[in-house]
This record gives sequence, structure tokens and C-alpha cells, in this order.
Amino acid sequence: MPDHTARDQATLGFYANEAPVYAASGPGGASRHLDSFLQLFAPGARILELGCGGGRDSEEMLARGFQLDATDGVPEIARKAEERIGRPVRVMRFDELDGVDEYDGVWAHASLVHVPRPALPGVLALVFRALRAGGVHFANFKGGGCEGRDAFGRYFNYLTADEVSAAYRRSAEWDIQSVTEYLGGGYDGGQGPWVGITARKPV
Ligand code: SAM
Repeated sequence: MPDHTARDQATLGFYANEAPVYAASGPGGASRHLDSFLQLFAPGARILELGCGGGRDSEEMLARGFQLDATDGVPEIARKAEERIGRPVRVMRFDELDGVDEYDGVWAHASLVHVPRPALPGVLALVFRALRAGGVHFANFKGGGCEGRDAFGRYFNYLTADEVSAAYRRSAEWDIQSVTEYLGGGYDGGQGPWVGITARKPV
């Protein structure tokens, strides 16, 4: 059973224990979705990253001159990201996000996948509150439609495209710009369905 708070302890424990291996694994380069997201912003825009992992996307955003607030809920992972990007990475769980009208963008790549379903609208409401009017948020979720754990014991909410849209609509007055289904990979090496969403906080 998932932990029905906004964080799942077994998932956080996995990342804490596996931080060196996890941070060294996977694609070295930035996410395929990052470039189109960054094109939405003026130079130097302020971006919050949720669940930055080993820091591959953080590194790219910094290299492109954005003001980045890189965060992760697991101290051991945050330290690995710091080693990579050479800057402090804030330890912050999703449910601890308390910013108000602060960011032009919120980037959550493959991280909100770990929010237990009942807690997701609440976390999305915090993301909405943290954005400035007109700010844009991207997140992607593993698909499938049935929550569960992977072979490593990590909880995934495994949402369909309709369920992703519904969670956003339930959370706040988002202007949903796009919801895209595609095939993508994961830490287990397999390919599977993913859902990406881009949503704006109305002006
Ligand atoms: N964004 C990175 C990427 O795409 O390479 C990492 C994605 S990894 C699948 C998920 C990340 O979310 C991990 O770094 C993990 O520590 C973090 N995470 C999991 N649960 C979290 C929570 N409740 N609050 C904040 N971060 C969390």
C-alpha cells in the first residue's frame, strides 16, 4: 500500500540508499522535453525544479542562464546533484513547497510520479500557488492507469492521460496547454507509456 501522505517513505528510502548508483545511471543528457519548455521563457527567468535527481536537467537550465531553484526531497540525492552542478540544491519534499507567486516556471520531470494519488491535487495546488500569473509548469507521469510499485519498491501513481488532466483540474484553475502520450524509459531499463502535461497559471 502507498503511504497516503504526499510522500511515500519506501520511495524516499530507495533514493536515499541508491543515491550514488541512481545518480550515475540513466541518460547523461537533459530530458527530451526540456528544450521546448525553456523556449517558453525570457532569458534569466526564475525556474523551480522539483525532484531534480542527479541534476541532469538542472545542469542544462543553469548552462542556459536561467535562475534555477533546484530541489529534491532526498538529502543523499540532493548532494549528488550538488556535486554535478556545483551549487546548493535545496532539500525539499513536494508537500513542503511554500512559495507564493515566485516562479516563472516549475519543472517536475519524472518526479510527481511518486506522489500517492490522493495527495496529488494538493501538491499541484502548491505548484500553482508557487507560480507567478502567466507562469508555466511541466510534469510527466508514467502511464498505465493503476497505481503500484516497481521492482525496486518505488511507488508510482501510473496515471492515464485523462487522470492526469482530472488531477490538474481538481487542484486549481490551470489553463492546460497540452497533454501528450508517448513511449519512454525508466530506471528499470524498460519502455512504457508516459504522459506529459504543460499547464499555465492564468494571468
Ligand atoms: N528529475 C530527475 C530526472 O528526470 O532525471 C529525477 C527523477 S527520479 C525518477 C524522481 C526524483 O524525485 C528522485 O530524485 C527522488 O529523490 C525525488 N522524490 C521522490 N519523492 C519525492 C518527494 N516526496 N518530494 C521531493 N522529491 C521526491
